[in-house]
Formats: sequence, structure tokens, C-alpha cells
Amino acid sequence: MHYDGMIIRPPSEADSILLQVTLGCSHNKCTFCGSFREKRFAIKKDDIIFQDIEYARTHLTRQKGCSSVTGMP
Ligand code: SF4
Repeated sequence: MHYDGMIIRPPSEADSILLQVTLGCSHNKCTFCGSFREKRFAIKKDDIIFQDIEYARTHLTRQKGCSSVTGMP
């Protein structure tokens, strides 16, 4: 899996596949949150995302769910 920067896994997603399709947070204005202050929002390249999906399909067969790992308002 291609992860870039800090990855946050909420406890509710403990058993999920973490798929990173974006970097940073598209909102990035919550005053209490500094998670992505230094990171500019961007969408990852399609080929990287498809490689991660294929990796998950092939190797991460015990997980039952999939979750995004970036900030999403
Ligand atoms: S939407 Fe989430 S990740 Fe983005 S700034 Fe707010 S709390 Fe942080």
C-alpha cells in the first residue's frame, strides 16, 4: 500500500483496509485540528490508487471493510 504522510486510523476502522486516495484535507479549517496543516490537498494518481486496490484484493483478504485515511469534512 502506498501511504504518504501521517495516517490516522479511527478505532472504529481497526479491522478495515485503509485506502488513501487523497492527501491532506479539502477543508483544513477546523480550529481544533492540526492533522493536515502542513499538507496541501491533492488527489493521488489513478495508477497508484488502482495498485493499492489490487494489492488489497490480493493480500488483505481477512478485512471486511475499506476506509479512507484522509481528512474529509
Ligand atoms: S475536516 Fe477533519 S481533517 Fe479536515 S480540518 Fe476538520 S477535523 Fe481536520
